[in-house]
Formats: sequence, structure tokens, C-alpha cells
Amino acid sequence: MPETRGLAPSSSLAPQGVFGGTFDPVHYGHLRLAEEAAEALGLSSVRWIPAGQPALRAVPQASAAHRLAMTRCAIADNPRFILDDAEVASERVSYTVPTLERLRRAEVCGSRQPLVLLTGVDAFLRLEAWHRWRQLFELAHIAVVCRPGYSLRAEDLSPALAAAFRARCVDDLAALSASPAGQIVAFAMTPLDISATRIRAFLVRGMTPRYLLPDAVIDYIRRHNLYTEH
Ligand code: ATP
Repeated sequence: MPETRGLAPSSSLAPQGVFGGTFDPVHYGHLRLAEEAAEALGLSSVRWIPAGQPALRAVPQASAAHRLAMTRCAIADNPRFILDDAEVASERVSYTVPTLERLRRAEVCGSRQPLVLLTGVDAFLRLEAWHRWRQLFELAHIAVVCRPGYSLRAEDLSPALAAAFRARCVDDLAALSASPAGQIVAFAMTPLDISATRIRAFLVRGMTPRYLLPDAVIDYIRRHNLYTEH
């Protein structure tokens, strides 16, 4: 089992999910990912963390405040989902390691709670570009979730990421409860080929994105006249 420096062992606390994204806008691919991960991994809750200023991609089209509000609408009726506005409230570029360090403080999750960072395969394939990426494993487990159009093959991983994957990957999803951080699990969710990019493209062309994201989010987009321009 990989070593996790500085964290006290968990005595079988239910793991908490941590789900970051641009959510520009949030859609059913995100919601099913969080719901299926919560069930498959036995997560007590999923903490949704919209990025304020994402580090590795173009400036989002909707403001951070709108993306936070849309995420709030989308998750409102799920008691297992928690909204975390810290990255949106921060003036700084959003990086995952400092976010996890914040969650590890005693007044948030503390050092023993297992945390599971939920990422789609596309995000995981770029992990080596993340700020202080190796420290992710000292702070959380990672669940890599399948996504149509992407595969998790050894040849698609850089040598360093492939080595981390080999050393840390476990098949037993329940193993995540046994330690606070350090392992990787891959799991298959119901494949949903939905992306925020495609939803924005529908909206800019005046087409309806209905059934790709919750009606409450579509109402919000219409009321605030979002995504009408490239
Ligand atoms: P965009 O099209 O603007 O790049 P997106 O739809 O990929 O956006 P993000 O907010 O960038 O949404 O994604 C947040 C996380 O959710 C990422 O880890 C991403 O891999 C995952 N994700 C997004 N859509 C899906 C989907 N349909 N199936 C599985 N995972 C998804």
C-alpha cells in the first residue's frame, strides 16, 4: 500500500468525495459522475468545488459567480452533495493541491478522513501538468472515471504518471476507507457523452440543450442571458 506522509491512519471513516471542475455549465455528465461515485465508493458526501480561475485552460465563458450559482441550482435537491465556494471566493488561480491542504485542516475534514478526488479520464491524463501533482497522493485518493472518447491505457500515460498509476492502483473500491490518501481506483460510470463545450455550442446557435442538464440550470442560463456569444 502506498505510503501517505503526515496523515494519521483512518479508522474506517467513510470517505468524502471532492469534485472540482469549471462547470461552465454544470451538466448531467457531472451529476451522474458524482452520484455513481458516491454509490460505488461509499462516499458520505461529495464536495463540489467550482474553479475560480482554472489554471490549465482558457478563461471560462461564464463568470465564477454564475458557475457557482448554476452548480448550486443543480445539486440543491441532493443531501449528499455539498457546495464549496472557496476557489470562487479566492482571488488566486485555482490549484487542487492547496485546495486539498485547506480541506485537511482540522476545522474542515482533518487528517484522518479519507478524501477521494473525482476526475474524468481526460483530466487524469493531464495530471502531470497540475501544480505540485505528486503531492495530490499525500492528500487524497484519486478515482478516475471513464468518459466517452477517452481511454485509460498505459501507453496514453506519461512515464511518471504510468509509474504512479502502477504503484497506487487498487481494484478493491472499498480499500479507500482504510487510509486517508494515496491510492488510485478506476471506475466505470454510465457513459454519457455530454460536455459543457457542446452545450455552449448549442446555446450560441440558439438550439435547446434540454435533457443534457437540469431544467433549473437552463432557466438560470436564460434568465441571465449566458452563452449567447462565443
Ligand atoms: P468543457 O467541455 O468546457 O471542457 P466539461 O464538460 O469537460 O467542460 P469540466 O467542468 O471541465 O466539464 O469537468 C469537470 C470534471 O468532470 C472533469 O474531471 C471531467 O473529466 C469530468 N466530466 C465532465 N463531463 C463528463 C462526462 N460526460 N463523463 C464523465 N466525466 C465527465
